[in-house]
Amino acid sequence: MYKTHTCGELRSSHAGQTVTLAGWVHRQRDHGGVTFIDLRDRYGIVQVVGDPAKAELASLQNARSEWVMQITGVVRKRPDGADNPNMVTGEIEVEVLKVETLNPSKPLPFLVNKDEDTEEAVRLKYRYLDLRHDRMQKNLILRHNVIKYIRDYLSDAGFLEIETPMLFKTTPEGARDFLVPSRLQPGNFYALPQSPQQLKQLLMVAGLDKYFQIARCFRDEDLRGDRQLEFTQLDLEMSFVHRDDVLAVVESLFTGMVKDILPGKRLLASPWPRLTYTESVERYGSDKPDLRFGMELYNLSDILAQSDFMVFQSVLKAGGVIKCIIVPGCAEYTRREVDELTGFAREQGAKGLATLALTAEGVKGTAQKFIKSEEVEAIKAKTGANTGDLVLFIADQKAVANKTLSALRILFRDRLKLADPNVLAFAFVVDFPMFEWKEEDKKWDAAHHPFTMPKMEDLPKFETDPSEILSDAYDMVLNGYETASGSIRIHRSDIQQKVFHLLGLKDEEIQSKFGHLIEAFEYGAPPHGGMAPGIDRLIMIFADEPNIREVIAFPKNQAGRDLMADAPSPASDKQLAELQMKLDLKKDEEKK
Ligand code: ASP
Repeated sequence: MYKTHTCGELRSSHAGQTVTLAGWVHRQRDHGGVTFIDLRDRYGIVQVVGDPAKAELASLQNARSEWVMQITGVVRKRPDGADNPNMVTGEIEVEVLKVETLNPSKPLPFLVNKDEDTEEAVRLKYRYLDLRHDRMQKNLILRHNVIKYIRDYLSDAGFLEIETPMLFKTTPEGARDFLVPSRLQPGNFYALPQSPQQLKQLLMVAGLDKYFQIARCFRDEDLRGDRQLEFTQLDLEMSFVHRDDVLAVVESLFTGMVKDILPGKRLLASPWPRLTYTESVERYGSDKPDLRFGMELYNLSDILAQSDFMVFQSVLKAGGVIKCIIVPGCAEYTRREVDELTGFAREQGAKGLATLALTAEGVKGTAQKFIKSEEVEAIKAKTGANTGDLVLFIADQKAVANKTLSALRILFRDRLKLADPNVLAFAFVVDFPMFEWKEEDKKWDAAHHPFTMPKMEDLPKFETDPSEILSDAYDMVLNGYETASGSIRIHRSDIQQKVFHLLGLKDEEIQSKFGHLIEAFEYGAPPHGGMAPGIDRLIMIFADEPNIREVIAFPKNQAGRDLMADAPSPASDKQLAELQMKLDLKKDEEKK
């Protein structure tokens, strides 16, 4: 037996017992003839102490950080005044009788037990050391708890967990596919699923009316702080449901989860707020609003329709809008601070930023000389702006104004600490547009995915104005992140074909890519719908982490590399030959 107890469980009630422990040297120090070691395992840290002058205890003194040691000793209460209230085991220590070095450690590339700023690349290269850190272990434990909660909750609610294949066919979710060459059918490729979307729909056709899966998804797209090439989602699908049936399951699952396993967090509101896509974009400039704070966007186009400001006039004439946010208490911003905000607005695509500062000495700011006092009063009445506030205006095309003000809103959230980190502002955004026009490709694209059901009453608009078609798609948002998407699905093959046609797919292409699905819909497909919350992103938010890498055991870096195993890496000539493939790399690719 390597150990009788864990390093985290010993208390004063164990005093007098002889125990055996095994773990890592968290810290080692010598104090005049006594050696102290903080011994650590997953469960905690305990202080062990011994006299290295005794020959059998000499290795206590040799031990260094992260050596793996086994000790046997007697638990005793610490001498008076030596208690450490910061350690749960701080009332006791273990007096060592026997010590064995199970494995020494090379000098470390970084000190795992210190909260120092180790470079990201080094952390990822030595991920197994990085994961020894208390914070990372807490994140992985939280991850386990979240997934276990989901499994228990949904199983109790009658859902079945069903695995679907990784080696499959393209399942479009708006990203590039990862392809896997087939050795058995040379020249053919599997696509790793961007999601199990089609497969879960086929499970509905099969009559397995409540499905879930902790599903790995693969999307070959540029990485961001909240995006990895492969990620995990809770994939859900149900038959004979309307939108609200799906949303009810998701809302009660996460409401219960917050209550049961996230003691430090509380919900902003219960029931969760619901906004239509249009309302969300109008009020927050975004379809993933952070509802923990106000600072809504106001449309001032009507109030400023007659203003003397040429810029405002020309924007309105060109079909644009004038919108603003009110930044509390920032009326005294300096010229430099305002210039910096203007620069930020430009980075978001706006042509400029106009300001009104409602200072105690009167109205100032770049727009002051163009805006009449009645207009200022009307703005104050509409927005509730007060003395001390700074009004930021963007006059531009609607999409640009919304995007820019939304980004400014988030900037001030962080700068002015407007959002409580312990509040979870879950909400649903509903009624998304069905299609988006892609100007670069001159074609329509599915706003969610092509399996989403358009609103029945909008079907005639396929022939007139597809941009006006709404869909039965919905998102779950949380603290400014999109944390799930879902929809009621098309279950009729005629509507599915109509959608594919509008997306520009020819009959042969529909047949070769999605023939199986279209055909399945002809064998009695039930009405169905579902959703897929992103597990990594949710845990990132629950754990107050800035990046999903912190809640994934072995993530890729920003360039999509696994720095620990050094993947991706070249295939051998033999492997390529088996696949009957030859590389045709551009020169600079070869060098990489
Ligand atoms: N398959 C969708 C996604 O991965 C989710 C869904 O519609 O259920 O975003």
